[in-house]
Amino acid sequence: MQKENNVEKYVLPDLDYDYGALEPHISAKIMELHHDKHHLAYVNGANQALEGLKEAQETKNFARVAALEHALAFNLSGHILHSLFWKNLSPHGGGRPDGALAQAIDRDFGSFEGLKGQFTNAAMTTMGSGWAALVWDPAGKRLMTTEIHDHQSETTTGGIPIMVLDAWEHAYYLQYHNDKARFFEAIWNVWNWKDIAARFERARTADFGLAATVSSKKGG
Ligand code: MN
Repeated sequence: MQKENNVEKYVLPDLDYDYGALEPHISAKIMELHHDKHHLAYVNGANQALEGLKEAQETKNFARVAALEHALAFNLSGHILHSLFWKNLSPHGGGRPDGALAQAIDRDFGSFEGLKGQFTNAAMTTMGSGWAALVWDPAGKRLMTTEIHDHQSETTTGGIPIMVLDAWEHAYYLQYHNDKARFFEAIWNVWNWKDIAARFERARTADFGLAATVSSKKGG
């Protein structure tokens, strides 16, 4: 965030790599448009919504607040997800995670292939525009996959996204056209497991004081 006239502004983060660094899996043209145009639009949209909210609060125009909060949720969630997506990817990515993340994946999905199948399916079956996400659920203390519709609906309250995949058409159409399954397969060559594991570690060690599961007796 950047301070301007006493209002905190969101800013577009730079990529950690060149536009063409993820080729052949994601083309330079897609990366350039996706980051410089699409992501920027969400940053601007979030800042506009914040400005509008500030004005509505100052003028006590509370009737406008619900629509502005919806606009903020859509645009700020878009900003957050894209920022996460760029960090989740690396030209030196691919392969498999190890350590605590690998153990949690085995526990919660049966195997790495289980995660890959479930996560890819979430991306494939997202209706309209959305994302697939690997989420840490602090209430149940487990990893889950989820579909995110647009940028913000269908998420469990408190869930922390640690790995996200943009399934909007702008993420792949220039290169993969209607064959999104090929994009969702190619992405596994560029996952930055180091970044994803670090996010997992931060998420699982934080205590948000949310509802916790109780153990249940089997066969009862
Ligand atoms: Mn996108």
